[in-house]
Formats: sequence, C-alpha cells, structure tokens
Amino acid sequence: MSITPALSVRDLTVVYGDQPALWDVDLDLAPGTLTAIVGPNGAGKSTLLKASLGLIPRVAGTVSFFGRPLNAVRNEVAYVPQRANVDWDFPASVHDVALMGTFARLGWFRRPGAAERQRAIDALERVGMADLARRQIGELSGGQQQRVFLARALAQDAQLILLDEPLAGVDAPTETTVMSVLRELVQAGRTVAAVHHDLETAPEYFEDTVLLNVQIRNVGKTREVLTSENVKAAYAGRPVSLELIR
Ligand code: ADP
Ligand code: MG
Repeated sequence: MSITPALSVRDLTVVYGDQPALWDVDLDLAPGTLTAIVGPNGAGKSTLLKASLGLIPRVAGTVSFFGRPLNAVRNEVAYVPQRANVDWDFPASVHDVALMGTFARLGWFRRPGAAERQRAIDALERVGMADLARRQIGELSGGQQQRVFLARALAQDAQLILLDEPLAGVDAPTETTVMSVLRELVQAGRTVAAVHHDLETAPEYFEDTVLLNVQIRNVGKTREVLTSENVKAAYAGRPVSLELIR
C-alpha cells in the first residue's frame, strides 16, 4: 500500500514567453517530511511553488494535494511567499497579518471572532512576535516580517506548508526560530517544503532535498543529493562559491 503524498506534481511544465522555467517536473512530498528545494538563481524554484498552487498558469501537468485537487483542500495548504515580493507598505498590523491565516477556515460570511483572534496571538507567540502585535508590518525588520508571515501560516493550521526562501536575509535569531518552528510542525505530522538558498546549512536543516534546475536533477536525502558532483552539474554555467561545495 502506498502512502498518498502531501503534494504530487506530474509532468509540470511552465513557460514564460518562450523560455521554459520548469520542464516536465515530477515530484512527490511524503507526509511528515521536511524538504529543501535547492537550485541556482532562476532555476524555477519559486515557479514550482506558484505553479503548484495555481498562482501562475501551467502549460502542462497535474498537481494534487493529499490526493485531491487544490480546491478541495485549500485550507490545508499554506503558502509563505518570498518576503522581497510582498508590498510592505500595505497598511496592516502584525496581528492583522496573523489573523489573515484564520480566514481560510471562516468561509465567506463569517467574520473572525475571539477564537480566531486568539489563534493569531498564539501563532505570534510561537514566533516571538506577540509583543509587537500592534506594530505596522512596514515598520518591522526583515527577520520580524518573516516571522509574522510564518505566524500567518501557523494560524491557518494547515497540513502542508510551502515557504519561499524563509531564511533569506533574516537575522540569526529569526533563522533559529523559523527552523525550530518548521521542525515542530514536522514532528506534529505536518509536511513542510522550503526553497532554500544556502547549500552549507541545507544538510543540517533539511532531511530531504530536491535539487532543481528547470528539471528535477536529484531528489532524496539531503546528504546524498547535495554531493559536489550533483551541485556542480545542477549549477553548471552559473556562478557558485566553491567553498559551498563539499
Ligand atoms: P528561482 O526562484 O529558482 O530563482 P524563478 O522561479 O523565480 O526562479 O524563475 C525561473 C525563471 O523564470 C527565471 O529565468 C526567471 O527570470 C523567469 N521568470 C520568473 N518569473 C517570470 C515572469 N513573471 N515573467 C517572465 N519570466 C519570469
Ligand atoms: Mg525564487
């Protein structure tokens, strides 16, 4: 008997203009796993998340979540976009953003009540941001913004959490907090996949890794995937710091 993957991608192809960003990608994320999505700049990592979530059109391919189409399980799938691609001038408090995570389960006509507000506060506490709940998001440091985004996903209480570079440009305490929250989620049976730019920390942080460059290059246990040969091949023609290759 096979286990239904949390995310299953088949034959996924995405093209911008006439350039393929993803070509015939197959990927399964087993439930309860913590996976890094690694590859050079422009490899299609963000595109893989966005196309899987239906945020950008696919030329070909099918995607299912827990064996079902996204529409049937939307509440169970949380997405944490790349911080750099978010409009931080949007007027919202830290608490507002965390509260947005609860909207998925509310439906169209119910407004968030005391239970939702408490869920938002609990989520902010988990990431060490409850003290700043009234602060405007535009006033936060990069690390604080990242933690608030993670809190929004926690407030959603999803089974699958997809994150785009959650550790890019954050301070060391935020990095520690984010990774410990992700590990807790996985220990609680949730499935987590994150685009990760740092080859050096990947083996310590992620049990499994997908090495991507338009196509899937390697997939499996991080230490077996991120060998120097695999990394060199996947990053071929792109600048890569040799000290990052072991
Ligand atoms: P990564 O996240 O791995 O750095 P992306 O998924 O952002 O890569 O991008 C993959 C490729 O698609 C890159 O060559 C990028 O320039 C291109 N691309 C991404 N978004 C767009 C877009 N909206 N329009 C045109 N090209 C895009
Ligand atoms: Mg990206």
